Amino acid sequence: LSPVPSDIEISRAQSPKAVDVLAKEIGLLTDEIEIYGQTKAKVRLSLLERLKDQPDGKYVLVAGITPTPLGEGKSTVTVGLVQALTAHLNINSFACLRQPSQGPTFGVKGGAAGGGYAQVIPMEEFNLHLTGDIHAITAANNLLAAAIDARILHENTQSDKLHYLKQISHFIALLELTDPETLTEEEISRFVRLDIDPSTITWQRVVDTNDRFLRKITVGQANTEKGFVRQAQFDIAVASEIMAILALTTSLQDMKERLGKMVVANDQKGEPVTAEDLGVTGALAVLMKDAIKPTLMQTLEGTPVFVHAGPFANIAHGNSSVLADKIALKLVGENGFVVTEAGFGADIGMEKFFNIKCRASGLVPSVVVLVATVRALKMHGGGPNVTAGAPLKKEYTEENLQLVADGCCNLQKQIQITQLFGVPVVVALNVFKTDSPAEVDLVCKIAKESGAFDAVPCNHWSAGGRGAIKLAQAVEKAANQKNSFKYLYSLELPIVEKIRIIAQKVYGAQDIELSPVAQSQVDRYTRQGFGNLPICMAKTHLSLSHQPERKGVPTGFILPISEVRASIGAGFIYPLVGTMSTMPGLPTRPCFYDIDLDPITEQVKGLF
Ligand code: ADP
Repeated sequence: LSPVPSDIEISRAQSPKAVDVLAKEIGLLTDEIEIYGQTKAKVRLSLLERLKDQPDGKYVLVAGITPTPLGEGKSTVTVGLVQALTAHLNINSFACLRQPSQGPTFGVKGGAAGGGYAQVIPMEEFNLHLTGDIHAITAANNLLAAAIDARILHENTQSDKLHYLKQISHFIALLELTDPETLTEEEISRFVRLDIDPSTITWQRVVDTNDRFLRKITVGQANTEKGFVRQAQFDIAVASEIMAILALTTSLQDMKERLGKMVVANDQKGEPVTAEDLGVTGALAVLMKDAIKPTLMQTLEGTPVFVHAGPFANIAHGNSSVLADKIALKLVGENGFVVTEAGFGADIGMEKFFNIKCRASGLVPSVVVLVATVRALKMHGGGPNVTAGAPLKKEYTEENLQLVADGCCNLQKQIQITQLFGVPVVVALNVFKTDSPAEVDLVCKIAKESGAFDAVPCNHWSAGGRGAIKLAQAVEKAANQKNSFKYLYSLELPIVEKIRIIAQKVYGAQDIELSPVAQSQVDRYTRQGFGNLPICMAKTHLSLSHQPERKGVPTGFILPISEVRASIGAGFIYPLVGTMSTMPGLPTRPCFYDIDLDPITEQVKGLF
């Protein structure tokens, strides 16, 4: 339709097929799915065992140029591309997407189901609670947080010391009855004193709301916790290490091991204290046992989608789950395609996709689709600020070839970053109705001159899969190209060296500068034996540098590393670049103003 109706109107106008019908179409057996309502089903991991001898399909990553705060359409391209492949070219395909956080859904950016005629439906189910995975993560995360503070209290209050002593005598009695060799580490840890140093606690509570007032809190103020007051903070739920574990794990056993390995603090001797030491691993695994199964949904054109895990790309690793990709690669078969998305610009989400996610999965991508828009390129060329909720200035609504040409430096740089990994890149220019044909041609020309295998305009937002057929054909061709995929750095390098390689080769920094705190954290993690992990940079997505206002391709900057954290269970070291908040705030005009419910029809309004 023209004009294109709102995302929610389009989503509602299409009746999705029943999810059991979809599951059957893609070859799932009845006992391999757990149905949630009519349009969502969780898929059991037993499927991987049944299909283990089946060859994998081709693996495509959708990344992007440095975006405006509005997003440049990576999710819509991902959905449009699979709609084109399957519904128009008859090639098996699967989209694997992240579950959106309710922070952005009610805050600035809106949902993440795609948009226009390239969406996952029903979009309100996708954008709201889905099958409860984020709630499970929040519950598990906060149980661990409660366990830490309670443990410190019980180990240090006079009355509890007696109880604690009784526990130890109980333990001694147990030892008389049981062969100590047969006790699990978890059983033993329930009895031993952990001596946690409260000033070293790195485990924070989480909530899936942009609640800036929780960025710094004081816990333990009730009389019952007298003497245990400490400063703490909340992070957004999707920044929890448990979310990263969900995204990177390869099996239930692996997830349990990773949960147990999470380091939450140091003891008084400076040794790491883990979730396993706190005896909470089993309970965390129980809370996460359903979340580990990917959720099956569909696009507007009835093609299959997995929604699973949702770490942000700026403050976490920004990719959907390894398990969903692995299952989808089996289901599409050797000639099929799995298309997944890495958050924000290629410098952030894609770098972590290759260096963290592909390392965890062992999978090798065939093609990168790099999404660009004329509006973001104009911003990089010197156009005025683009702000969510405000109307776009005339530079963005009228033809301006000079701004586009000047801004293509960011596209060129992101193409070069992709080439560092040896994977062919196809540029997808996501066309908006205000783009002129000359602007579209200019971007495609510059992209090809800059080393892209191909560059094509895409109209999936206004025309659905039909509008992305050219992109699908280009991706199919690129997937047959020589692929010399490689990681950017060796894990054996010292932590600081790995950070420097990312800063210089990917962001274009002159060098890095560690604060004294960051340096001491690096020294501690190295001493504790965690030096050989990959790096997950927490950096603004609005610039290649650490300064969001610096557009285009900033040069000559020194990247400040203010803090370095460690996510040992997820398996990465997590440097914070400058002042990165792990709890977003609400803007003056948040999206929730537009969201409403019709009590008669029960229909949701205003989501996008
Ligand atoms: P990203 O995944 O890169 O963050 P999205 O795909 O979520 O971006 O798109 C951001 C927003 O822009 C969505 O609301 C989407 O509907 C809208 N959008 C994307 N492409 C177009 C287009 N070609 N024309 C108009 N709006 C678009």
